[in-house]
Amino acid sequence: MGVKAVSEHIRSVGVWVGLPIHVWIVAEQDGVTLVDTGLKWMAGSILKEIERTGAGPLKRIVLTHGHSDHVGSLQTILARYPVPVYMHEREIAYAEGDLAYPGKSRPFAHVQKGLLQPLAAAGKNGLAPIGSLQPFFTPGHSPGHVVYFHAQDQVLLGGDLFHAKRGRLLPARFSPDPALALRSGNVLRALDPERLEVCHGGTVYRPAGQLGDLEQEAERAETAVKARQTQIETKKSKRSRQ
Ligand SMILES: [Zn+2]
Ligand SMILES: [Zn+2]
Repeated sequence: MGVKAVSEHIRSVGVWVGLPIHVWIVAEQDGVTLVDTGLKWMAGSILKEIERTGAGPLKRIVLTHGHSDHVGSLQTILARYPVPVYMHEREIAYAEGDLAYPGKSRPFAHVQKGLLQPLAAAGKNGLAPIGSLQPFFTPGHSPGHVVYFHAQDQVLLGGDLFHAKRGRLLPARFSPDPALALRSGNVLRALDPERLEVCHGGTVYRPAGQLGDLEQEAERAETAVKARQTQIETKKSKRSRQ
């Protein structure tokens, strides 16, 4: 279990389980915002770190999405701090098990009903700031995925919008709609944050500069798939003519 100071107001608590899993503790003027809750057994370390920061009590939990590795210790933390929990309204039905996540054959309740509240909307398609964080809707990895920007610290808390390894931006694994996820990645260009923190990976500095490489890679992969399809179809039509 590693605790790291990300920036003036943000600390991360991380574990390694074959891949890294991080959650973020954001110090606010009136207490603490927790972003994601990791796995069930991370609750003790998260609670200890919230108390150690001395920024005050936990005020709210905000979630990037509802996959089990992001909501695992929610119940235990709520037992200690009965605070409101927010996620994007489009994600709630999937997280509560009313709808099957895209790519899954059946629904599964990752979060008990009644605990989740929708992030407040603001303006056209926008989301209202919450604590010191500005949420942005970034679907693709999941239907209601959200990232949170801390403007003062210039840190984007990216959840599973991307993965990262050795400072390099990578597409998130297990994304049912990788093309949409990549388009959602444009938030990096819009915000141009100094650093991106992802749940499964390390820090990426000035991540917007790496987006072009990922887009080119995706384009190359798509062209290769199309070429293969054309090859197969040509073979098929040749065979049928024989
Ligand atoms: Zn995920
Ligand atoms: Zn994840």
